Amino acid sequence: MNATAAIGVTGLGVMGRNLARNFARNGYTVAVHNRSASRTRALIEVYGDEGAFVPAETAEEFVAALERPRRLMIMVQAGAATDAVIDEFAPLLEPGDMIIDGGNAHYSDTRRREAALRERGLHFVGTGVSGGEEGALEGPSIMVGGSAEAYDVLGPMFEKISAKVDGEPCAAHIGSDGAGHFVKMVHNGIEYADMQLIAEAYDLLRQVAGYTPAEIANVFRGWNRGRLGSYLVEITAEVLAHTDAETGAPFVDIVADAAGQKGTGRWTVQTALDLASPVTAIAQATFARAASGQSELRAAYAGLPGGTRPPLSRTEAERFTSQVEHALYASKVIAYDQGLKMIQDAAAEYGWKIDLGTVARIWRGGCIIRASFLDRIRAAYAADRELVSLLGEMEFAMEITDAQVPWRETVASAARRGIPVPAFSAALAHYDTLRADRLPAALLQGQRDYFGAHTYLRTDRPGAFHTHWAAPA
Ligand code: NAP
Repeated sequence: MNATAAIGVTGLGVMGRNLARNFARNGYTVAVHNRSASRTRALIEVYGDEGAFVPAETAEEFVAALERPRRLMIMVQAGAATDAVIDEFAPLLEPGDMIIDGGNAHYSDTRRREAALRERGLHFVGTGVSGGEEGALEGPSIMVGGSAEAYDVLGPMFEKISAKVDGEPCAAHIGSDGAGHFVKMVHNGIEYADMQLIAEAYDLLRQVAGYTPAEIANVFRGWNRGRLGSYLVEITAEVLAHTDAETGAPFVDIVADAAGQKGTGRWTVQTALDLASPVTAIAQATFARAASGQSELRAAYAGLPGGTRPPLSRTEAERFTSQVEHALYASKVIAYDQGLKMIQDAAAEYGWKIDLGTVARIWRGGCIIRASFLDRIRAAYAADRELVSLLGEMEFAMEITDAQVPWRETVASAARRGIPVPAFSAALAHYDTLRADRLPAALLQGQRDYFGAHTYLRTDRPGAFHTHWAAPA
């Protein structure tokens, strides 16, 4: 077989098939391979005329079809499946060849695989691909890890197939080894937070303002034209406007209220605990999904007393809607800020040089969390590469200041009425933690010293101190 393919994709499921088609539509010759050959044949049969594909039934045929240095992209499930595919192909490759893992791998697996394959002279390029099925075909956001040397070769290809915003590609080299998959993981964590915040806003508009799903769809459509403009707000309006064909009921009313998860939100929270990175809005969003699924517990305690819910007049409802817009925006800024800070914390831990302005830039298109305010986040980090929080940027700081009263009023209204808003509350508490002069952590230090002689620092002089505590009277 002639080595004519610029890239090979193995794993032709939902994502792999569409990425292969995207490469082909962009003029690359693409070798395609799948464990079960029927998927390879189906791709050629249905989409073969979209571009230049080289179907391969065996691993040897697949590798032989690739130009050197060989570029082989794996699109299979994270974990054991990815290891199995690497084990199958690595022995067939030569030093300088590149294995790209475009699946949702855990970044620690990527670090392990990169180190092992580097020993054998192979580049292992852990790559986060966001945008789902449609993004993979039309242009995803691509977060590339691995060596800069590998990016020199792969970068132009990824940039070509990625989404474009203002003519700029939504693909970039994030940093070495697992940096690309790490940033993809945090992207998904932010996605959890963003979705939960939007869901809480909906719940408040429904239960406090008394709006119907169709009315709330219109509110979201309006918000989507402003600073909250984003893919998630846009699709939320569509979901809320949708009615069930069978019953004519609002779609949102006939769906079970227990949310699923595939695990990247959980990974983000687990990793954040290890890094001591307080991504509280992401954590609450992840726990909110878990809590929604505890149906037996919820059924056992449904009907316990909560707050009172006086109906609002039309004018009051409109005023409340504007408050919720402020609360949603401010909480969203905090959630993104927490995720970006977590990336900074990981970069310090793993020695990655990550430019957050670049991260914000490539999240502007193709991916699920694309949002108009990412342009301003990009600009904030471009203006100050050392920025540690968006709260340090003047425009964001002003918006958060403006949101103070309505944000607090929204969370307070929810508490008074007994409506859970875990992500809104966590975001506000995070903001108040950052701005507090003194935190009760001083008391915690006293408690720790009391029971464990853990010592404490003083505010008035250096050194570690221990008090000989008297036994309780
Ligand atoms: P999918 O449709 O379920 O397809 C999975 C593919 O993996 C199939 O081609 C399957 O081959 C292959 N495979 C599974 N186990 C294998 C093994 N042990 N050896 C060889 N091949 C194996 O999956 P997908 O949705 O395309 O996802 C692929 C990757 O992209 C995953 O890591 C996923 O997390 C990630 N991702 C998905 C999305 C999304 O929206 N779906 C978005 C971003 C990232 P057979 O046909 O032989 O079973």
